[in-house]
Amino acid sequence: MNVLKGLPEATVIREPSDLEPFLRDESHVHGVLPLAVVKPHGPMALRELVRRAKTEGFGLVPRGAGTGKAGGCVPTDRTVVVDFSAWPGDIHVSPQDLCLKAPASAPLREVKAAAEAQGLFYPPDPNSWESCALGGTLATNAGGPNACKYGMTRHWVLAVDALMDDGEIHTFGIPSLKANTGPNLAQLLVGSEGIFGFIVGATLRLTPRPSEFTTLLLPAKRWADLLDLPGRLCAAGFLPSAFEFFDPAVLSELRAHGPEEARRLPGEALAILEFDERGCTSEPFLEALLDLLGPMADGLEVASDERQRGAIWAVRRMTSAFLKERHPEKVSEDIVVPRSRLGEFFTRLEGLGIPSVSYGHLGDGNLHVNLLAAGETEPALLDRQLMVLFRLAVDLGGTLSGEHGIGLAKRDAFLALSDPGQIQILRAMKGALDPCGIFNPGKVI
Ligand SMILES: Cc1cc2nc3c(=O)[nH]c(=O)nc-3n(C[C@H](O)[C@H](O)[C@H](O)COP(=O)(O)OP(=O)(O)OC[C@H]3O[C@@H](n4cnc5c(N)ncnc54)[C@H](O)[C@@H]3O)c2cc1C
Repeated sequence: MNVLKGLPEATVIREPSDLEPFLRDESHVHGVLPLAVVKPHGPMALRELVRRAKTEGFGLVPRGAGTGKAGGCVPTDRTVVVDFSAWPGDIHVSPQDLCLKAPASAPLREVKAAAEAQGLFYPPDPNSWESCALGGTLATNAGGPNACKYGMTRHWVLAVDALMDDGEIHTFGIPSLKANTGPNLAQLLVGSEGIFGFIVGATLRLTPRPSEFTTLLLPAKRWADLLDLPGRLCAAGFLPSAFEFFDPAVLSELRAHGPEEARRLPGEALAILEFDERGCTSEPFLEALLDLLGPMADGLEVASDERQRGAIWAVRRMTSAFLKERHPEKVSEDIVVPRSRLGEFFTRLEGLGIPSVSYGHLGDGNLHVNLLAAGETEPALLDRQLMVLFRLAVDLGGTLSGEHGIGLAKRDAFLALSDPGQIQILRAMKGALDPCGIFNPGKVI
């Protein structure tokens, strides 16, 4: 592609066969062949890309590790994919400021490890944490099991270095929790899925690393018994750092076809609970918890060491990949329902007759509802089923995405189900920040 000739500080990939891997992420969405893939190595490449995108009329699609589940990084018509994996930079931890600075290209696992090496903790933990990039987690405001207690990625972002429409990199925010100088532009970029500008680095908030963990495998004799437990725990003053679940269908699949450690999983449905506050391994804490669980505590397994804790989490972490391998065409959604309405949600979902299985983050009502037969379902019917699912979540006071974002996959539903005033404001912001429409065109709004 001639318009990229002589691009400074960059690797440019043009061969159609080399472009293939960039057509997809981990969603069901297929992109179109991009004009090229550019791996910038420095700010000059970005500045020049922005200038040429405006004059030549092509779009720029940012990409981290491509593990997203909403089609956010797949190329649309007349776009260049900007792959941040070769962007340079080290991770710097400041224990005094309880923060860490890292480039967008840093693998999330390295960010978490750098904090841990100093006895500190960066809580965001999408189940893809071993493969995704920091920039992708910022752009999608990623969640994960720990969001139950610690919140989403945005709750841990102090400052963002972002490439904006002028082609320059700006730093929004300071390395301190307290900063109150008008609307927060760093937070505007977090969760914006690359439509306002590109994130090239960030300063993240850290907290002392928890030193005690109680990890429980809680089988439910009756699936329905699990559904009011998140609300009961919170109302009784317990705040798990994670509360994950498998519904009966996912649990059966795991038992029948999963790895060795999944074959012995007990119960009709199953929850994994973890607590990490000081004192959570003490007798009084466990007794109070057992009191609250009552008869549900029958069959409860408590991880007694790190190895057992690791084994419990390993099964949870591989669930998404396991289901995808068995049902490659499945569609995985991530709706949210308020904790207090989980029981009502599953009763109504069953009544709607949408063939689905669920697992995910029960503790904060973020449910991964999977339509395993999506590949064999007529597309118009599948769209109707998804819309009915989203409407149900919205009717119950929830929303259509808890952590994966909108991207391309949920754009139509987002536009249809949102307050028109909200869409109008978002479009006005997009027009102001990206007047030429070069940043991730066709996504979100
Ligand atoms: C097995 C598995 C488990 C998962 N579990 C979770 C989970 O528990 N919680 C959760 O929240 N998510 C989960 N995800 C999806 C999740 O969104 C991602 O894994 C992660 O946040 C995306 O990171 P990435 O680097 O792969 O981003 P990509 O997929 O490359 O991109 C995601 C979005 O961010 C944009 N983007 C990427 N980099 C930048 C940048 N530098 N500047 C601006 N925009 C950018 C892209 O254009 C796209 O819109 C899971 C995915 C998989 C495959």
